[in-house]
Amino acid sequence: MRPEIQEYNYDWLMGRTLDAASKVPLGTPKETELTFRYIPYFKGVAQSFVDAGPPGIEFLSLLSRYYRDILTARDQGKKIAATTFCNTPAILNAMDIVPATFEVLTTIGALVWKRGMFDYMDYCCEVGMPETSCSAQKGALGAFLADLCEKIDIVICDTPGVCDTNANAFAFAAAFMDKPYFQLNYPSTIGDRRSQKYHIDDYKGMIRFIEHHSGNTLNYDRLGEVLTEIDKQDALTAEMEDMLMLVPTPIPPIFTLMIYAGRFCFAGDPIYTRLLETMVATSKQRMAAGVPGLKAGVEKLRIVMCYIDHFTVNMAFYNYLEERGIAHTGSILTRNFRDDNEYVRDLPDNSYGIDISSPDAMLESIAQMNARMPMVRSIRGPYDQHGMWLEETLACARSYQADCVIYNGTPGCRNTWGMVKPFARDIEKQGIPVHIMYDDAFDDRVESWEATRERLDEFFHVRGLI
Ligand code: SF4
Repeated sequence: MRPEIQEYNYDWLMGRTLDAASKVPLGTPKETELTFRYIPYFKGVAQSFVDAGPPGIEFLSLLSRYYRDILTARDQGKKIAATTFCNTPAILNAMDIVPATFEVLTTIGALVWKRGMFDYMDYCCEVGMPETSCSAQKGALGAFLADLCEKIDIVICDTPGVCDTNANAFAFAAAFMDKPYFQLNYPSTIGDRRSQKYHIDDYKGMIRFIEHHSGNTLNYDRLGEVLTEIDKQDALTAEMEDMLMLVPTPIPPIFTLMIYAGRFCFAGDPIYTRLLETMVATSKQRMAAGVPGLKAGVEKLRIVMCYIDHFTVNMAFYNYLEERGIAHTGSILTRNFRDDNEYVRDLPDNSYGIDISSPDAMLESIAQMNARMPMVRSIRGPYDQHGMWLEETLACARSYQADCVIYNGTPGCRNTWGMVKPFARDIEKQGIPVHIMYDDAFDDRVESWEATRERLDEFFHVRGLI
């Protein structure tokens, strides 16, 4: 790693940047506009959120709080758990442990920093990780491995077999930093009693592990509060999902990112409820006024991202969709598979519910919620089996009346690369065009954003979609 990169603690650098960004919109519109002149480096990303109105402003303060929690954990006597976006932070929230989710931290850096997360990604390879491992973890993980972040106390992941690069990144992190490590087994099937019991027993093992290494005991009253908050959040999310189904949808592309990023950071915390409330209120106002979410005022096309979005600097992907008049109806990350969502009507055993009537009911609820996290839910094995990737994607494409399906991931997504071509052919057979993006969602060195944009334009043009 270059010596100049090692001069600054990455988390403090990013935490202070987000703290400052969250304050930019608090003045008058004129003050905000003038501030942009003095922050040319960060203007692109800050303005994207400020222009998104109250939800964008709420989201900036949510990101700032995420870093503040990590940076102040030690002073508050709290432990920090390194974890993955495939693991709901709700259980950590209930146990007073601060999550440091590598993929969330990498995404923030990729969106905010022009110089990207490249130095940190490369550092992971310098110390032994393969180049083909997932950039989603490598960005933030590199900063932790280089000792440029707050110390981690424990490492928890939950994806053996779902994504080998993800699981191996956490195993590597735990071994390299010499930290206690727990790997939650994903359930081999979802919906049958035997695998659910196995999963709940395993989840209880994870709780015992956290209790043992943190000294904190799970308080079921607190878990009940967290699940009650999630119940509210899920109801608000279901309202957003209903509005995403409208043609045109009143929901702008950037909101789909905020739905899942908020959940990955703060499921069960009132700060995420407030973000969802502002998104629902803003979207309902637009719906009542008959105004589409796209700034251009016309919805030319509707897409479903069957995997993840593209997280390049200054929100370029979401701004591109705005410019082209393309509605983003969500990705595998947006969907939570709560049982009251319209899109699970054809996939009943893929969904989960919340029951807080007893400690066992609560544990069953949170374990089942965890089993519906992205990748764990539908990319566990053969893509064309019941409840898996193909069935989920077709159900979503139909529910949201998508004109096409787009795949985007990272070169590390070996599980999906191994099946994406037959998967795309099967979707095309149903009359839905599919585009496979060959970039890296977090690393523009693999394919420049300009080239990615040109290939998207070419696809839309050649298939007669725009
Ligand atoms: S599936 Fe792809 S994006 Fe997700 S963790 Fe694995 S390599 Fe990363």
